[in-house]
Amino acid sequence: MNAADNRLDITHNYIGGVWIAPSTATTADVFDSNTGEVMGSAPLSDGRDVERAVAAAENALEGWRNVSGRDRAQYLRAIARELEARHDQMASLIAREVGANAAISAGSQTLTPVMSFDIAADIAETYAFTESLGDNLIVREPIGVVGAITAWNFPLHLVTVKAAFAIAAGNTVVVKPSEVAPLTAAVFAEVLHTAGLPAGVINVVFGNGPDVGEPLVAHPTVRMISFTGSTRAGRRIGELAAQKVAKVALELGGKSPLVILPDAPFEEAVRFGVEDLLLNNGQRCDGYTRMIVPRDRLGEVEKLAADMMSTRRVGPSSSEQNEIGPLASQAQKDRVRSYIETGIHEGAKLVVGGPEDPELTEENRGGYFVRPTVFSEVTPEMTIAREEIFGPVLSIQAYDDVEDAVRLANDTEYGLAAAVYSGDRDWALAVASRIEAGMISVNGGGMDIRAPFGGYKQSGLGREFGHFGFEEFLEVKAVRLPA
Ligand code: NAD
Repeated sequence: MNAADNRLDITHNYIGGVWIAPSTATTADVFDSNTGEVMGSAPLSDGRDVERAVAAAENALEGWRNVSGRDRAQYLRAIARELEARHDQMASLIAREVGANAAISAGSQTLTPVMSFDIAADIAETYAFTESLGDNLIVREPIGVVGAITAWNFPLHLVTVKAAFAIAAGNTVVVKPSEVAPLTAAVFAEVLHTAGLPAGVINVVFGNGPDVGEPLVAHPTVRMISFTGSTRAGRRIGELAAQKVAKVALELGGKSPLVILPDAPFEEAVRFGVEDLLLNNGQRCDGYTRMIVPRDRLGEVEKLAADMMSTRRVGPSSSEQNEIGPLASQAQKDRVRSYIETGIHEGAKLVVGGPEDPELTEENRGGYFVRPTVFSEVTPEMTIAREEIFGPVLSIQAYDDVEDAVRLANDTEYGLAAAVYSGDRDWALAVASRIEAGMISVNGGGMDIRAPFGGYKQSGLGREFGHFGFEEFLEVKAVRLPA
């Protein structure tokens, strides 16, 4: 790894506790979202590198699975402390790679990884891997070598939430980070090294989906794939894994609704929705991208949302003042702008924002900025009501009665998250019980990182975080003893 002139070039994969040159000489540039300039690069490895990494993980497995939960926890805590020590470096890389504003880069993007390792350590230390059931013993064992493939929007967190819980359960791991935002995964590998994690327990191979992801998924030694990314890639991974009947855990896309019931405190509810949507500049799978509101209050909601969106400062993520940074890549910017154009073309009402560039300084003209945009009168068949945009774009949908609101909320192939707001908690809970989603916020309730994270329907399979995430990485064995 070479760090010079404000760039970070990753030249090797981290395999078996050492940095190994990849089999190819090809690399992918990594761009600074604020300026569009190259800020680093990473190898585009291939199947031969996957082969080496899986072999290293397999070699490490026997030793690691026999380390007690209590001793594994010591390693996990050492990693958490090293992550803390590298916090500022990671935060600055994420702000540039992904465009996450200063608060999020230094907040959830980099603190959740520390919490993942600490929580996984707590669980490994106390978990009952063996329990009695009548005459049988129920034993929970690691699955084996796990492949972890991740998206770019929370580049460190997505890697660590898989790695921490997988190794806490006694598995060994091969990580393939996103080729769009690979840099923190290299710093993470250094963290593992400094923390003294035994060689081969976590390996990192840099590259793209077809050349590294697919060979990893298809490898016969890899017993489980934990994937975060698009539903499109998740389907492909499911197909490949099915050929060898390997377990898959899939964290995929979302189009999450916020239902505002007629008796809700409207300003508070709209603010909650807008603030949630704008976290990480809208580059979130679980953001409330559809606001479902009573038809006779549509004008009021439009005005509230427009005021809140248009007063946010858009600008480089390096400045503490800016609330909305750029998107992660030119491709993502083009994609979001094209959705805004499609929304206009299909007849949605553009309330604020639009496809034009926001005002920028000379220095940031090459950055991937878009205007925070609100659409209203969005109907269920419109593209912007159905497809994931992954940017600061809100779609407001109107309902006639509560039945209609529930129908609209569930009228999506996704089922990741949802929210309900009402003046009456019991009513909100009753409506929440009818919405098909893995996570539902009631009256502004927030996330607890120990609670399960994951979706219904095409948002995925399985759960991450806490005990639920930990148990995904375990096999269950019934040992039959004589009575
Ligand atoms: P993506 O699916 O394009 O890529 C994700 C990862 O999969 C990358 O590492 C990529 O190289 C790899 N990949 C792509 N095709 C592959 C294949 N055929 N085989 C194996 N690996 C393959 O997604 P993205 O653009 O990086 O991320 C955005 C998506 O991630 C959005 O859909 C978002 O909703 C989703 N996401 C979901 C969650 C969640 O927890 N549910 C969290 C973050 C992001």
